[in-house]
Amino acid sequence: MELSRRRLLAAAGSCLALPVLPALAQDPVSEVAPGLFVRHGIDQDANKANRDAIANLAFVIGRQAVAVIDPGGSRADGEALRSAIAARTNLPVRWVVMTHGHPDHVFGAEAFLPEKPTFVGHARLPEVLASRGEYYRQGLGRILGTDAGTVEPPGKLVDGKAEIDLGGRVLELTAHPPAHTMADLTVIDVGAQILIAGDLLFVGRVPSLDGSLKGWIAVLDDLARLPLEHAVPGHGPPLVAWPEAAKPLQHYLTALRDEVKQAIAKNVPLEKAVTSIGRGERGKWKLFDDYQGRNVTEAYRELEWD
Ligand SMILES: [Zn+2]
Repeated sequence: MELSRRRLLAAAGSCLALPVLPALAQDPVSEVAPGLFVRHGIDQDANKANRDAIANLAFVIGRQAVAVIDPGGSRADGEALRSAIAARTNLPVRWVVMTHGHPDHVFGAEAFLPEKPTFVGHARLPEVLASRGEYYRQGLGRILGTDAGTVEPPGKLVDGKAEIDLGGRVLELTAHPPAHTMADLTVIDVGAQILIAGDLLFVGRVPSLDGSLKGWIAVLDDLARLPLEHAVPGHGPPLVAWPEAAKPLQHYLTALRDEVKQAIAKNVPLEKAVTSIGRGERGKWKLFDDYQGRNVTEAYRELEWD
């Protein structure tokens, strides 16, 4: 309750002062807990008008420094995020944490380069960016009609767990086995007791599977056991109740696993499965038709060897 009231007040106050993305009707940045801000991404795919500002981005202000969790989906998106931070604090951005390598989360990195922060990522993130970064850059450039920016390989790698101290404010980082992607990292803002889940948590927007279905189900089960009451999803509202908000995603992923397993057992060809699997979930998710076929294909590839 307290959190929601603060959030509303923060959103109302910042509406007047901070038109971060002028193309959008309202300021998408809200303070979801004292010192923890979320830039709310919109539920669309990247396009020229939205500048790929489609993922939730976060920043945490400590006593001595600021950490950004995901720098944005394009150079323009990163610059807007940098301006939103500058409007709230003069402290330097010392860390830019990347929750994974998808373009809507990392292509804003360039906006932070002048102040030389440490870029932080999963130990496998450099591998992902090396193999996909240029492909993403070109694809995004075509969509945006301009140079998309560049991705920044992490200088600090997390394998297991790590901590960042912002001065009186500690962030706990955890690198996960393959799940949403091959290199997912989550952050706990210890002061606020909030999980910043990256794309391990989708709320309302259909998830995209790019790592391991079985792995994602297992990681989500582990995260759901954390003794926390709120989370920031990679896509969805800026703040959600935890672990309740994970339930629809857990349901989606287990239904996908079970239906794909059944289809494989019955020798249903993939071409047929992509149009029939997961129909029960269709009305529950935005952008379902854009991603479901790909998710079924990924799940088939993974589960046909079981
Ligand atoms: Zn993602």
